[in-house]
Amino acid sequence: MPLPPLKRVLLKLSGEVLMGDQQFGIDPGFVAALAAEVKAAKDTGLEICLVIGGGNIFRGMAGAAKGMDRAQADYMGMLATVMNALAMQNALEQLGVQTRVQSAIEMDKVCEPVIRRRAERHLEKGRVVIFAAGVGAPYFTTDSGAALRAAEMKCDALLKGTSVDGVYDSDPKQNPEAKRFDRVSYDRVLADNLKVMDASAVALCRDNKIPIVVFSIREKGNLARVLAGEGVQTIVQDS
Ligand code: UDP
Repeated sequence: MPLPPLKRVLLKLSGEVLMGDQQFGIDPGFVAALAAEVKAAKDTGLEICLVIGGGNIFRGMAGAAKGMDRAQADYMGMLATVMNALAMQNALEQLGVQTRVQSAIEMDKVCEPVIRRRAERHLEKGRVVIFAAGVGAPYFTTDSGAALRAAEMKCDALLKGTSVDGVYDSDPKQNPEAKRFDRVSYDRVLADNLKVMDASAVALCRDNKIPIVVFSIREKGNLARVLAGEGVQTIVQDS
């Protein structure tokens, strides 16, 4: 099944792509390059919602593994996503792209709260809306946040820009024989526990018929190629 025509998309970027070649944190040069890709996509007339992870700064699971209370660590992870959102907002605005950050954890000195109707209005006015703090609750990830915002903003697709170029039948870093899917069903992803997004995010996309497009955002120009239906990617949708 081909992708529907894309008018509005949700672009999810893993936090790790913001660190560029560093081991940690935010590389402003790399964020600027990502922002240029987002601007190019927006200039084609697309409405863009953005969700950025926080794994380049803090992951709740990592804190919990070292003895922290899981919920406390997850709240720290959510705050990390707000920092990334502000970094991306800055980079986009330096390119002249109007943006608004809406956070699921209210922080009125730095950004707006998540208000769907207001987000809708921003998109109509040509602004990029960056949704921060995931779903605003621990025990979730920003992938679930991305799926939730994609559903409530009625996005035509969820584009997951990450460090790998699609979904494989096994981990390509461990298994040189791993095969990449061009297309795969939601049910196969869930049944085989394929590494795309966490199960709750995949299920939410399945139930709301939102195709997930997984591609590498590390390659320059790849977002534009994927939007044009070209380039290396995996599409997750009903078979
Ligand atoms: N997080 C959370 N609830 C959410 C979204 C995020 O608790 O709705 C926390 C969680 O600890 C997670 C961290 O924020 O590990 C950073 O997000 P994520 O791991 O999804 O970032 P990514 O892997 O995309 O960089």
